[in-house]
Amino acid sequence: MKEDYPRTILELEERFGTDEACRQYLMRLRWPQGFVCPRCQGREGWPATRGRIICRACRYQASVTAGTIFQDTRKPLRLWFRAIWHVTSQKNGASAVSVQRVLGLGGYSTAWTWLHKLRRAMIRPGRDRLRGRVEVDETHIGGDEKDAQGKRVGPKVLVVIAAEEDGSAIGRIRMARIPAKTKACLHGFVQGAVEPGSVVHTDGWVAYRGLEPLGYQHEATVLLGQEEDAATRLLPRVHRVASLLKRWLLGTHQGAVSPEHLDYYLDEFTFRFNRRNSRSRGKLFYRLIQQAVQVEPAPYRTMVGGKTWTRDDHNI
Ligand SMILES: [Zn+2]
Repeated sequence: MKEDYPRTILELEERFGTDEACRQYLMRLRWPQGFVCPRCQGREGWPATRGRIICRACRYQASVTAGTIFQDTRKPLRLWFRAIWHVTSQKNGASAVSVQRVLGLGGYSTAWTWLHKLRRAMIRPGRDRLRGRVEVDETHIGGDEKDAQGKRVGPKVLVVIAAEEDGSAIGRIRMARIPAKTKACLHGFVQGAVEPGSVVHTDGWVAYRGLEPLGYQHEATVLLGQEEDAATRLLPRVHRVASLLKRWLLGTHQGAVSPEHLDYYLDEFTFRFNRRNSRSRGKLFYRLIQQAVQVEPAPYRTMVGGKTWTRDDHNI
């Protein structure tokens, strides 16, 4: 399918003035080769009310929003489209406060939940892994806040970053929060983020050993002297990414990111970083909606960690 997206906010307003127009757009992105029944894989169906399609073969009523972040929403799709435009058209991303203000949403929690659903959609399921020469290293996020006595407070979170070498520049990146610098965590991350056959460049940390049997070429540079300085010099790309990430968290989100939500912010940062050279904001809008119709819905309770919310609470 040709990549078809609005280029300006006026085009957005004109094209997506009705929920029907939004739904048609979602259908083209969800089923680019035409309708496919989620139950029997049948290719033929009839349109029905409320954006459903009835499968000719098995009579299943398929909905274009079922299984996506738009499932069960009570708000108009055209409001979602505006939220997505707002999020993708800001160079550094949007805060929940700005989404609430721009869309005139009643509550802060709705804006916050929408943003988190959108962040979930920012990393494409089954996305391509990094390849070529890839730097991998860990960094700490947070824990810099100090109390009146100058003692560090607040949690420190460990994040592992992979960055493709693109000449002297940075190619694509991946990142993840990990509980510890163990072999299981680091190897698991590398396998999820980097294509076998690639060269993985790390420091001499012992837990990185054993990547060769997993299909990687491993290049370990043992750091001498001041660990931080040496790491910045020898693995410059991951450290550049780490400092951009920290600046972004401080700037756009005032550093107010709790560890349990950090994963979503890492996904948003990765989405923006990997598309930083995209000339058109409209293309980011397109990409995000395309990915949004491919992901499972994120119930509110999974985002607030353990607190139980009924289904009605998150039908927003
Ligand atoms: Zn069917």
